[in-house]
Amino acid sequence: MTDGQRAGTLLDDYDALLVDLDGVVYRGSGAIPHAVESLAAAAGAGAVLAFVTNNAARPPAAVAQHLRELGLACEDHDVVTSAQAGAREVAARVAPGSRVLAVGGPGVALALEARGLVPVTSASDDPAAVMMGFGPDVSWRALAEAAYAVGSGAVFVATNTDTSIPTARGIAPGNGTLVGAVQAATGREPVVAGKPYAPLMRESVERVGAQRPLVVGDRLDTDVEAGHVSGIPSLLVMTGVTGIEALLAAPAHRRPTYVAADLRGLLLPAAAARVEPTAAEHPDLDGLAGLRAACRAAWSAADRGAPTPPRDLPVLEAAVARALA
Ligand SMILES: [Mg+2]
Repeated sequence: MTDGQRAGTLLDDYDALLVDLDGVVYRGSGAIPHAVESLAAAAGAGAVLAFVTNNAARPPAAVAQHLRELGLACEDHDVVTSAQAGAREVAARVAPGSRVLAVGGPGVALALEARGLVPVTSASDDPAAVMMGFGPDVSWRALAEAAYAVGSGAVFVATNTDTSIPTARGIAPGNGTLVGAVQAATGREPVVAGKPYAPLMRESVERVGAQRPLVVGDRLDTDVEAGHVSGIPSLLVMTGVTGIEALLAAPAHRRPTYVAADLRGLLLPAAAARVEPTAAEHPDLDGLAGLRAACRAAWSAADRGAPTPPRDLPVLEAAVARALA
């Protein structure tokens, strides 16, 4: 059956949702409106959920506990972190039981231990690899140890290379900046596990046994691009960092398959949520048909090297605001 010929929802077309957390399920510690009910409805309709995060600092059990507190039915193993995917990359490159220099929050060392590796904190311990993940207390001394080991030829793995982290007080440096310091000092490039790179998606797909997964996220340069890299369609929700202008300006490798205001979009027919046109005409079920049409026009013009078509941003913004209400 092709898209556009189904009366059901997106959930008829995908058996597993690889759901990003920040900006999708929660913002800070609180749930994003409609997220919990929509995910419960998705699970009730038979979708398998994996909560997939680039955040390597928090152990999966802590993330799962947070999700349960928000009202989601979630087991610890439903959470897939970039630290877990990174540890798998390390394990594939070193002998079993090797020492690995762990830089970052507790999630980094825990993920290495879960793979049978031995986390250490000094380059003098002669580690076979270095794994760097975010931690708010990572010091210059820890970065120096990483640089000594990487400079001596240790396998170099980064959980993720997000350049920034939004905090309550503004934008703060993310793991990518810490990794960048070691890269700059040593001239060596790390293997990166997190989105948009493939390892975290691979780990997630295998974890839940997905046959037809859908990436669900709020960022073009991590979630949506990870979908493209791994050949997985994506649903962009407008509850996080991506604004309309960035969406309209997205290069081909960062264009989502579907766009919705929030996670209620999971319950839309696939053809209605889809950005690219489909055979069947769909009524404007969520008020965002205009935004999808604007995306099509802008992307098609960009691909032809034509000038950006006129768009009325305030009108599109008002439509999104209404859809989020
Ligand atoms: Mg996010």
